[in-house]
Amino acid sequence: MRMIIAIDGPAASGKGTLAKRIAAHMSFHVLDTGLLYRAVARDIERSGFRLNDRWAALAAARALDPVTLDDPHLRGVPAGDKASVIAKIAEVRAALLKYQREFARRPPGAVLDGRDIGTVVCPHADIKIYITATPEERARRRHLEHQARGEPATYDNLLADIRARDARDSGRDIAPLSAATDAVIIDTTNLDADAVFAAVMTIVRA
Ligand code: C5P
Repeated sequence: MRMIIAIDGPAASGKGTLAKRIAAHMSFHVLDTGLLYRAVARDIERSGFRLNDRWAALAAARALDPVTLDDPHLRGVPAGDKASVIAKIAEVRAALLKYQREFARRPPGAVLDGRDIGTVVCPHADIKIYITATPEERARRRHLEHQARGEPATYDNLLADIRARDARDSGRDIAPLSAATDAVIIDTTNLDADAVFAAVMTIVRA
């Protein structure tokens, strides 16, 4: 049996943590597809080009080495903002599609999280989950994470970033952030991580 679980949702919705937890529980492979876009932005800049250079962006996407996804520089707000800029480029998205689809077919199963997994990358996924929460709640969680790591960031700045990224990801022409029509939508505004995990596992078992 080979199972594909697609988890989509906006920035800071907790989908990455959830995806990793489900994958560990099921002994499945897990791919944080946001890292692909973050890494492409990193590689464009490392080559000395600007993020809006379509040719450089396509070259970086085609040459992307998944081994380099395990890079601490890809974490954090600036890398996410840069990723959302190059994620609007159709050629970049197309170049990253093959790797994501092949990853999804890895036996015994795979969990992929992102923005367009249920809609574009794996429209035939066995399970589609769309995780969301209000921008204020997502900013509150991000703020707590930053405080725990001793990183300076104000709640207001994090909220502004989340709003800007929501607008960019939902407003773009290609593969915009949206729930697949057959996705189960879970609003986690008033749920903790354990409750969300339990809800998703009930769906997976069913
Ligand atoms: O999920 P994460 O915040 O790491 O994603 C960074 C950015 O990459 C997103 O804001 C979005 O613009 C882009 N992205 C995307 N499609 C995906 C995953 C991420 O466009 N499947």
